[in-house]
Amino acid sequence: MGERLAGRNGQPRANGRRGMMARRAIPSLLDRLPSVRGRVRADFNLAQLVWFRVGGRADILFEPANAQDLAAFLAGLPDDIAVTVIGAGSNLLIRDGGIRGVVVQLGAGFSDIQIDGDGLIDAGAAVMDVKLASAARDAGLTGLEFLRGIPGAMGGAARMNAGAFGGELKDIFVSAQGVDRQGRAREFTHAQAGFGYRSSAFPAEVILTRVSVRGRPGDRNTISARMAEIAAERSANQPVGARTGGSTFANPVDSKATGRKAWELIDAAGCRGLRLGGAMVSEKHCNFLINDGDATAADLEQLGEQVRARVLEVCGVVLNWEIQRIGTPGGGT
Ligand SMILES: Cc1cc2nc3c(=O)[nH]c(=O)nc-3n(C[C@H](O)[C@H](O)[C@H](O)COP(=O)(O)OP(=O)(O)OC[C@H]3O[C@@H](n4cnc5c(N)ncnc54)[C@H](O)[C@@H]3O)c2cc1C
Repeated sequence: MGERLAGRNGQPRANGRRGMMARRAIPSLLDRLPSVRGRVRADFNLAQLVWFRVGGRADILFEPANAQDLAAFLAGLPDDIAVTVIGAGSNLLIRDGGIRGVVVQLGAGFSDIQIDGDGLIDAGAAVMDVKLASAARDAGLTGLEFLRGIPGAMGGAARMNAGAFGGELKDIFVSAQGVDRQGRAREFTHAQAGFGYRSSAFPAEVILTRVSVRGRPGDRNTISARMAEIAAERSANQPVGARTGGSTFANPVDSKATGRKAWELIDAAGCRGLRLGGAMVSEKHCNFLINDGDATAADLEQLGEQVRARVLEVCGVVLNWEIQRIGTPGGGT
């Protein structure tokens, strides 16, 4: 086995019911894990991996060495152990009770970019969107500039059909590779990816390991200028340095929204700047929730629900969460 640390990582956790349960359950869980080349860490504080900087602990965090290591791990993992994949954590609200079973995060073994002479760009799923946009620019390929404004990695971008500034992942997507819960290799064409607005149809249990996209020949200076424009617009209009999860709610398709975006409805419902505990609705962009320092995941989720209720009451529109909320509520198990 590669690195296998049964000890604590991240912040020490308070004693209590969750702590007692974890101490009992995690050693036996560790004993049931297959051998791996990558890194296994027990009782890991997930808050440090997500933009919101909130959330509980994972029983196990596994960072596979490469796709073969991931496949072998999943093939050998008993079926009753849950597996959850996280990317760069920029669209995730992990609840305070944490995540039972194994959390997989892809790292260095999934970070290469290959570009062929035909504009095909094949990237590991852990490559950051911004890095891919820069690699395409350096290769004189246009069409990926919008990725400059999205702070996730390519696995999350494909899963969420990430988009901004008139571009969406589906516009450049060619194919993706992944591994299912049994460790079998899976491949997806554009049609099989089933992209929708901030959504896709990749099977829930599949961990994407590679994503291929296509760029078109373009002028490097023009691409650079567009990327700089996007970066500037981002920092002018969004709380990019804050502990946030990006757009909280998807823009509604409901006709009662009369074409208004989620932020316009939230503003109309008087929620800009609304607070609950350490959570607040951003003053700068009111479709963003912010952890102002000591928020819990419960503060953020409850504040989001308050916003939904007010928008329904004032505007008659149901907002749907775009942020992915995962894990167990509260500090219990
Ligand atoms: C400041 C800020 C601005 C943002 N602006 C935008 C924007 O303009 N447009 C936009 O679309 N989004 C935006 N987002 C949201 C977010 O960046 C995107 O949704 C991004 O694509 C998520 O990628 P991630 O790697 O962070 O995924 P995570 O947040 O870690 O995960 C998101 C989902 O993808 C799944 N996932 C992650 N990796 C994999 C994988 N390898 N295989 C299978 N499933 C996986 C997770 O299980 C989860 O369901 C913004 C976020 C922030 C914080």
